[in-house]
Amino acid sequence: MSSTLLRLGLWTLVLMLALFVVQATWADSPIAELITTAMIQQGLALSVVVVVAGVIVKVFEKGKKAVVKNRCRECGKPIPPGGIYCREHLRSVLELEDRRTHNTRIR
Ligand SMILES: [Zn+2]
Repeated sequence: MSSTLLRLGLWTLVLMLALFVVQATWADSPIAELITTAMIQQGLALSVVVVVAGVIVKVFEKGKKAVVKNRCRECGKPIPPGGIYCREHLRSVLELEDRRTHNTRIR
C-alpha cells in the first residue's frame, strides 16, 4: 500500500518535471501552450501530497507491526515473532508430546 503510493507520487513528480522541461525548452511552440505553469504546479503539489501520504502510511504500517506483538497461546506472555508458546509452555507442550509418543511406542 505504502510502496504503491510512494511509487505513484514519484512517477507523478518525474512526469511533472518532464512537462516542465518540455515547456521550458519549447516555450514558443503550441506544445508549451498546452502545458500551463499552473498545471505543472498543481501536478507537483499533488505528487508531493501523494509522496507524503505514502511516507505516513509506511510509518503507520511500521508502527502497527511493532504494536501487534506475538503472545503465548497459554499465558499471553510476549514472545518473539513466529512462535506459538512462551519458553516455559513450549517446553511443557513438547514434554507432553514426547511422553505421548513414547507411551504409544511401548504399547
Ligand atoms: Zn506461556
